[in-house]
Amino acid sequence: MTASAEWTARDASTVWHPFTQHANWTEDRPVVVDRAEGPWLIDVDGRRYLDGVSSLWTTTLGHGHPDINAAITAQLAKLDHSTFLGTTHTPGIELSEALIDLAPKSDGPPLTKVFYAGDGSSAVEAALKIAYQYSTQTGRSRPKFVRLDHAYHGDTLGAVAVGGHDLFHQAYKPLLLDTIGVSSPGDRALGADRYAVALADLRAVMEASGDQVCAIIVEPMIQGAAGMLDYDADYLRTARELADAHGALLIFDEVATGFGRTGKMWAAEHAGVVPDLLTCGKGITGGYLPLSAVLAAEHVYEAFLTRPGDTAPRTFFHGHTYTANPLCCAAALANLRVMGEQDVVGQAVRLGERLTKLLEPVGAKDGVVEIRQLGTMIGVEVAPVGERTGFAVCQAARERGVWLRPLGDTVVLMPPLTLGDDETDLLVNALTEAVDEVVG
Ligand code: PLP
Repeated sequence: MTASAEWTARDASTVWHPFTQHANWTEDRPVVVDRAEGPWLIDVDGRRYLDGVSSLWTTTLGHGHPDINAAITAQLAKLDHSTFLGTTHTPGIELSEALIDLAPKSDGPPLTKVFYAGDGSSAVEAALKIAYQYSTQTGRSRPKFVRLDHAYHGDTLGAVAVGGHDLFHQAYKPLLLDTIGVSSPGDRALGADRYAVALADLRAVMEASGDQVCAIIVEPMIQGAAGMLDYDADYLRTARELADAHGALLIFDEVATGFGRTGKMWAAEHAGVVPDLLTCGKGITGGYLPLSAVLAAEHVYEAFLTRPGDTAPRTFFHGHTYTANPLCCAAALANLRVMGEQDVVGQAVRLGERLTKLLEPVGAKDGVVEIRQLGTMIGVEVAPVGERTGFAVCQAARERGVWLRPLGDTVVLMPPLTLGDDETDLLVNALTEAVDEVVG
């Protein structure tokens, strides 16, 4: 018996994995990861796999980066944890300054404040509560959120309520906040004029119910978990105008798209639009430790400051035990420093362009429905030939030393932004052969 098989048997007896059907778990032969270096995962039997999805879209610089490791170690020797309730600390302050410095800019009100959270979902939860409370503290209660079909904003109940991905959300519908779903500009099922259809839908909803809406929430430019449904930047400009016209806030969920992933520091920069609230997570620490944040515009923050004559507290009653953990903040600071020093966003642009070129022949194959891409966020949709075609392609790629994850029948490629040319070739060659093997 291999070490992987032994550990998998032990795993199956006590562990319950996220988003996992355990009836298939053992036969799917999960990789039992022992260690990692750069873009490589190494299992307990010593087999190496190229980490083609950056360990779920996070490890933007690859694994084991010496600067991030050193920053965490140095921080650990100084301060492991102290609460952000009633005390503060230098890594938390410095990271806020760095994030506000990096935040997307336009002619409109800038993002000026940072509220920390622990993962993407909890950043979204915080943003939703801020948006609703903002409405009650600036006029009157607006209890509705506008959300896009196929959206994914996380798995906690508020985040699920503003999601629109049936596979993940259907089971929980009776528990959810009442939200208003609108067509997605990335929805291929709407046909070639999907952008116009989605825009008309958003406009109609805001005209009919805008005074009930505290916020419109979108994944800017591309809906990741829906299978990389990219869409036109104009949609975001119009969403900004409609939110302003109807007194609603605009939330950009940049948990997947932030920190260079789309070839710009933020997806918002493709459109030149700044939201009132921006959520980020995943790549913020380079994937080393869990951290996320909500960036807020000053007018939002100001609505939470006590004023003379107030009869109720304006405080944002929200936060967690590990909010702004100093180790996580130190990792994020090191990540942002490396990103700046090594022009990692420029590297992401070049990697994205190289992948576009290399994937051209894959897109031409009969078994491939479409390749969707924004920078280094890529979805290769394959034509189903059985029950789990996307998964079968990933398993075939794994046999060729590349670790990938599907979203349904869309195979996702989200490699580290710093991936070298040889590894990029390996990634595409393995995918090409896997597609040939499974869908012909
Ligand atoms: N928002 C978006 C756009 C995401 O893609 C994700 C995760 O994929 C989340 C939120 C949830 O983040 P987390 O899994 O860290 O809670």
